[in-house]
Amino acid sequence: MTERVSKEITPKTEDFSQWYLDVVLKTELADYGPVKGCMVIRPYGFAIWEAMQADMDRRIKETGHVNAYFPLFIPKSFLEKEKEHVEGFSPECAWVTVGGGEELEEPLAIRPTSEAMICTMYAKWVKSWRDLPVLINQWANVVRWEKVTRPFLRTTEFLWQEGHTLHATEQEAEEETMRMLGMYRSFYEEVLAVPVVPGRKSESEKFAGALRTYSVEALMGDGKALQGATSHNLGQHFATAYGIEFLDRDQQRALPWSTSWGASTRMIGGLIMTHGDDAGLVLPPKVAPYQVVIVPIPPRKGDWNEAVLPRAREVAETLRGAGVRVHLDDRDTQQPGFKYADWEMRGVPLRLEIGPRDVESGQCVLVRRDTRQKETVPWPGLPARVGDLLAAMQRDLLEKARRFLADNTRRVATYDQFKQVMADTRGFLVAPWCGSAECEARIKQETRATVRVIPLDAPAAAGPCVRCGERAPADVYFAQAY
Ligand SMILES: [Zn+2]
Repeated sequence: MTERVSKEITPKTEDFSQWYLDVVLKTELADYGPVKGCMVIRPYGFAIWEAMQADMDRRIKETGHVNAYFPLFIPKSFLEKEKEHVEGFSPECAWVTVGGGEELEEPLAIRPTSEAMICTMYAKWVKSWRDLPVLINQWANVVRWEKVTRPFLRTTEFLWQEGHTLHATEQEAEEETMRMLGMYRSFYEEVLAVPVVPGRKSESEKFAGALRTYSVEALMGDGKALQGATSHNLGQHFATAYGIEFLDRDQQRALPWSTSWGASTRMIGGLIMTHGDDAGLVLPPKVAPYQVVIVPIPPRKGDWNEAVLPRAREVAETLRGAGVRVHLDDRDTQQPGFKYADWEMRGVPLRLEIGPRDVESGQCVLVRRDTRQKETVPWPGLPARVGDLLAAMQRDLLEKARRFLADNTRRVATYDQFKQVMADTRGFLVAPWCGSAECEARIKQETRATVRVIPLDAPAAAGPCVRCGERAPADVYFAQAY
């Protein structure tokens, strides 16, 4: 059996970022588009996105939200209404100044995010406490002009969902913010098999215009953190700026509280960097475009159309009937060994081999992508066994990633140790921090690490600030980040 490592992919340990690009390009998840920073999501990559989207969309709806769609172009004056928001986003805005061959009276921003557009519409729609809460989500593309880009992780145009809600009270808005943070956390763990650390962002890392920003942070294979999704309590800033008012139960004019929350195609980057290995992608069964690939093995003499292919087709149909996403690789231009390596590189969870002898003895061979464990399974028990193996692989990938996270989350006693770890293995460092932006900036300058999150319900700090020695209210998570 050829357990060969694909020669096309740079080993992960040799050069992690080249390995990442090799995986993205060679497994045909994405390709570079003609405009710098814009990627083409190819069918195999888009199928992963569709699987993610379907599951997350269900979770968004189960928590009471509905989908809508808002325009791509945002008039400049709309964007300028919230001061912090425009300062945060205008450096990365793309502008349309000509339309239909004529200079526009007002430049239009291509949405970098939709608070300005959606809040403007909410001001028109919301009149009374009876109109609240407003719980709307949109699936869309956004554009943020980036200088340094990398497929899925940082692209000028990307796909995402953005939820925008309005509530009568601060408490309801905070509950919503936390509910959606929890949704992201369970989505990451249950669907992507990626464990995350949820928490609040420091002032310097929060969303432009937000009262409080929360995020889930994952740890990638190279020890760098990836911000997985964010959830913002926007306070009354946007309601004030966009003139959203309602009459409360006492017929008094009041300002609603708003939230927004989003997750993007970046999640695909996180998936690759969490589970991939030297042979390429390893996809959790829940988002794999094909959960099983069937590789028929031709007889040494004779035609595979006689016995092997018909049997392989039947097996494919049976598994499809059991709800499994199956692909039958019946290319007669490639040898089985090539196909094994090819699908292994593409991260398909299970490979099913059927040869002439398997047809005779009423069985087939299953090979798991993550462990490469091989087993012979008789036909009658096949759908059940496939279901068990897919569930086991989903579970084991999460377990493995959890161990990696635990092994790479360290407490440090001194700033020297902090610097040493950041220069060496990286990972999450848990250490007391005084809360000062200046201290945070110095740590970033000296170690390239930032405060990723202040954990929720953080216990009192173990000691004084790791850098400056001032009193520290809490232990926080530091890491270098994507
Ligand atoms: Zn400090």
